[in-house]
Order: sequence, then C-alpha cells, then structure tokens
Amino acid sequence: METKSDLPEKGAILQRDKQTYAIAPHIPGGIILDFGLLRKIAAVAEKFGAKAIKLTSAQRVTIVGLEEDKIDQAWAELGMAKGAAVGLCVRSVKICPATHFCRLAQQDAVTIGLELDKRYHGMELPSKFKMAVAGCMNSCSEPAVKDIGLIGMPKGYRVLIGGCASGVPRLADVLAQDVPAADVLPLVDEIIKYYQANAKKYERMGRMIDRLGLEKVKQDILG
Ligand code: SF4
Repeated sequence: METKSDLPEKGAILQRDKQTYAIAPHIPGGIILDFGLLRKIAAVAEKFGAKAIKLTSAQRVTIVGLEEDKIDQAWAELGMAKGAAVGLCVRSVKICPATHFCRLAQQDAVTIGLELDKRYHGMELPSKFKMAVAGCMNSCSEPAVKDIGLIGMPKGYRVLIGGCASGVPRLADVLAQDVPAADVLPLVDEIIKYYQANAKKYERMGRMIDRLGLEKVKQDILG
C-alpha cells in the first residue's frame, strides 16, 4: 500500500488512519461575520464525505477525513485561502473578542490581531511561530504561551515574547509594558526581524531567548 504523508501544497494534513486528510481554511481571528461561510464549510464537508468538522485551538474550522482525490475539489468549492497549519512559518494569530464584543476589554485586540494576521500569517520563519492578542489580562487567547503575545492593559499593551505550549512548555517573558497601540505593530516588526536574523532552524523564540539571554535580547530589540 502506498505510504501517504502531509500534502503542504494542498494545505492537507494526513490523519491518524493514514488515508484521509484534514484541510483548514483560513479564518482570520476565527471571526465570522458572513454566516453563509459556516453553511458553505458544512456543505463542502457533507458533499465530499468528510468524517467531521473540528474547531481547533488556532480558531480554525477544520474539515476532517477527506479522501485525497476530493481535496482539490473541496478547496475549489470553498474558495477560501488555506490556513498555515503546517510548516516553518507563522501558523496562527489567535485573537480574543476584546472591545468588539467583550465588556472586560481594555484594548482593541481585534483590530491589531487582524492586522498582524494580514501581515504575517504564513510568513516563513526559522521555526513554527504563533501569536496571540488579548484585550485584557484575563488572556483568553493565551498570549503567555505564544512566540509573541500582546495583552491589553489600561495604559497600552504588555508585549510578551518566547512563550510556547508544545513539547516542554515555556511561559513568555515580558519584553515591554504599556506600549501604546500605535507603537505595537512597529515593535512586533522589530521582534520578527530579530528572530529571523538570530534564530537557528527549528528553534522557537523561547529557546533562542534561553540561548542568547533575555537581557541581551531585550537590549537588542528595544535598543
Ligand atoms: S482576554 Fe479579556 S477582553 Fe479578551 S475575551 Fe478574555 S476577558 Fe474579554
């Protein structure tokens, strides 16, 4: 029997049965304003014989259990971009509802999160890379276990770097406090450039910080 593997070019991930695949359409921030989108995903899953629809921790709606010969047709009918679910790249930007919906929010995490998604989702980097933005310190989008995490505080954003939930988990370090919203995107850009220039292949942000030393990394990024 032919040995199958992930099909990154088709955005398809081999499942446990070693025969069928999951595909994950890109839904920035997991926010769906067009309810027809959910109906379309359900219709495609049904039409092509998927086994399940799974809501993922990366705020995706994944169609699970497609036969290989149905993948291209499923993507064509979805008409959606592929989520960066595999590979050495920015996999996801997780966003909480923040000031758009949540009464506890201190900052507009959705606007910043969607901009981060637009700029970085799928960008190739030395290792897989995750981001999260939360509107307050309740941290519902889990910024403390992301490579870059932003937390909305009364006077601006707390910027975290080096968090990771997989393998040996690592809590993020605080890079900066009370960063005004207008300064957050330029700072994230500096962090990404620094990581690109200094990380080894497969080295997550947190391991790079452990190797180089937090104070040096802070000094280098913040000047
Ligand atoms: S992190 Fe704060 S603002 Fe965001 S959903 Fe949770 S409680 Fe609401």
